[in-house]
Amino acid sequence: MRRKLVAGNWKMHGNRASNAALLEALKASRALDAVDVALCAPYPYLGQLQDSLAGSGIAWGAQNLSQHAQGAYTGEVAGSMLADFGCRYVIVGHSERRALYGDTDAVVAEKFIAAQKAGLTPILCLGETLAEREANLTLEVVSRQIGAVLHVTGMAALARAVIAYEPVWAIGTGRTASSAQAQEVHGELRKQLADHDKRIAAEVRILYGGSVKRDNAAELFSMADVDGGLIGGASLVAEDFLAIVAAAAR
Ligand code: PEP
Repeated sequence: MRRKLVAGNWKMHGNRASNAALLEALKASRALDAVDVALCAPYPYLGQLQDSLAGSGIAWGAQNLSQHAQGAYTGEVAGSMLADFGCRYVIVGHSERRALYGDTDAVVAEKFIAAQKAGLTPILCLGETLAEREANLTLEVVSRQIGAVLHVTGMAALARAVIAYEPVWAIGTGRTASSAQAQEVHGELRKQLADHDKRIAAEVRILYGGSVKRDNAAELFSMADVDGGLIGGASLVAEDFLAIVAAAAR
């Protein structure tokens, strides 16, 4: 039985005061006991999350990392630095990074490896654009994206990772994949992984992300292969995020 994970992606939002209010509200909730919960914050606030969340049962992480371990990479942040701030997770291959910052499949694979080398659990994002879905390329695209990682890491690495299926057309748009659409992709991904290793495929968590809200979360999370969510906008509002966590706990 896979334990559900609900991970918030704050993206480039928040400040010390708003973070503190959000963290206090989240820590006060009981809903957190039944599922794993994590928050992925902008780099400057990782120390704040560490101070606030240590011992709370809520894990924290970052939204990106460098593929390099150290060196002359001005502005970049290494996995070991994230580990230094107690991060458990790091998002790799988010569609915004792929679209805006040149994170190709190959770079995403390098970042995935760098994360694990630093002892972090990568949350590997996959997903098709609207044009790709309309051209019936969804499964081809997500297979290519996961294949690019598997090719260099091997299947054993997936035992220490989380996958997030995030259709690009659903991120921040208010347009959610139907539960059937999500299940189709999640089921297919798990089937493909099972061709490599049945046990790891059965155990790896596959989150859904893309406009998950308090009123659609329960339906999405009820699907056999949807093991929780990666939550953007709704992770910035304590009551909404907690309602999503509660939906995962059902
Ligand atoms: C995300 O940022 O990964 C995301 C899924 O955002 P939203 O929930 O706002 O669509």
